[in-house]
Amino acid sequence: MPKAIIIGAGIAGIASAIRMAIKGHEVDVFEASSKPGGKLAEITMNGFRFDAGPSLFTMPQYVDELFKLAGKDPKNYFDYIKLKEVCRYFYEDGLRLTASSDLDKFAMEIAKKTASTTNEVERYLKKSKTIYEVTHRVFLERSLHKLKSYLHWDTLKSIFRFGQIDAFRTQASANKSFFKDERVAQLFNRYATYNGSDPYQAPATLNVIPHFEYHYGAFLPKNGMYGIIKALIKLAEELGVKFHYNQKVEEILYSDEHKPKIRGIKVNEKIYKSDAVISNLDIWFTYKRLLKNIPPPKKLLNQERSSSALIFYWGMDGNYSDLGLHNIFFTEDYQKEFNAIWKDKTISNDPTVYINISAKHVRGDAPSDSENWFVMINVPANNGQNWDLLIKEAKANIVEKISRILNRNIEKDIICEQILDPRSIESRTGSYQGSLYGNSSNNQFAAFLRHSNFSSKIAGLYFCGGSVHPGGGIPLALLSAKIIDQDFKFNT
Ligand code: FAD
Repeated sequence: MPKAIIIGAGIAGIASAIRMAIKGHEVDVFEASSKPGGKLAEITMNGFRFDAGPSLFTMPQYVDELFKLAGKDPKNYFDYIKLKEVCRYFYEDGLRLTASSDLDKFAMEIAKKTASTTNEVERYLKKSKTIYEVTHRVFLERSLHKLKSYLHWDTLKSIFRFGQIDAFRTQASANKSFFKDERVAQLFNRYATYNGSDPYQAPATLNVIPHFEYHYGAFLPKNGMYGIIKALIKLAEELGVKFHYNQKVEEILYSDEHKPKIRGIKVNEKIYKSDAVISNLDIWFTYKRLLKNIPPPKKLLNQERSSSALIFYWGMDGNYSDLGLHNIFFTEDYQKEFNAIWKDKTISNDPTVYINISAKHVRGDAPSDSENWFVMINVPANNGQNWDLLIKEAKANIVEKISRILNRNIEKDIICEQILDPRSIESRTGSYQGSLYGNSSNNQFAAFLRHSNFSSKIAGLYFCGGSVHPGGGIPLALLSAKIIDQDFKFNT
């Protein structure tokens, strides 16, 4: 039986393994770490459990699809709820907005508390839907690197509608024209950060992202985000996939001939033969470490990386009724914050703070009368900044900001802490410079400047995950595996 090897058990690596196993192939996954999941990890401390990476689950249908393809009922593996409340927003001037999944309610909340109207919200979300309709088949669900993708009738229809995707102005300038109240524009500008970009540079096409959250919904697995990985691993193992942990792949092996073919991989000096290799490792390191003799595509690899994150995992004594599952505390000056990240490669002294508290829904995630706070700010990718100093300053600014807005001294409630920063994101997950989403989408050609999902030089070599087409985030990482599946061939 022909054999496929997957390098890395991130979500796209696991999804690729499942898809290969469903095709009836023998599949082995080699993972450098002792556990699967990559960025989608969990940590525990002092009776608290934290999802270490992603906290927002959108487009669950892409996970469900894997179970259905295998002829299984996803509900027998994991369960998730659709959130009634999407997010709570806190502003420095005292404004508080609650985004409901009920769009009329959300629009009414905005109209009641700001200078914007329900009409503005409706017009904006209608535009978001249009961008999704035009882009999803072309940019998300097919390879951009195969001629046949452009010959589909629906691709051609989309190409005729390209004028509607708002690619020639920035997201921030588009949102300024949509909303009279700049705080509402700020709320929607934040969606650029969902793929690690800057709303003041990224094209308004990124206004597609709210469509995922407001049309399809925001979800939470009943046992937390890591539940997605546990469920997928169970499915993969049932399908016969073999996982090898603590096995850091050192080299991808291919034949030495005019049109090279995949031969296998090398781990700890041992050779494992295979007829196809799918690398889930960041494309930068795939070239720099595993494909040493293949000239790297410099233009693609040298694109600006997406932003990274600084996260404090705090076990908190007490309950905070003002807070929900997802909470945003906005900076007073959003442009200044993004200039700090993108131009000065540092952290602003008033960063926007995101607090996720999974214990609001998953009670077992924190001991009674306490909460598990995942406190995150966006920061630049690692370029050798003095992170120890930046982290110390950021923590003081965050504590001061949240305490002031909630009118409660939060520092005294912190009973335990762990920290993740761009350096540790890179060392733990192999993400170059600790970026969360591969390349940034700060220019309108970004979609075309991601690496393809297959190698044009080595037969049987494929690439999946957040650093290649169609991009970062759980839904797109899952789609990268789906795109490979559409055209997969062994090394013939
Ligand atoms: P990765 O998770 O990058 O995993 C790659 C795997 O390869 C790792 O397990 C690594 O150990 C392994 N590996 C590396 N080198 C080797 C080697 N040489 N040999 C073998 N194995 C190797 N997305 C969302 O959708 N919603 C969110 O709310 C969200 N928030 C995020 C918050 C944070 C803090 C982070 C870090 C990410 C967030 N993301 C979010 C992004 C999302 O986590 C990623 O896009 C997605 O998980 C990437 O998956 P991947 O398949 O590319 O693999």
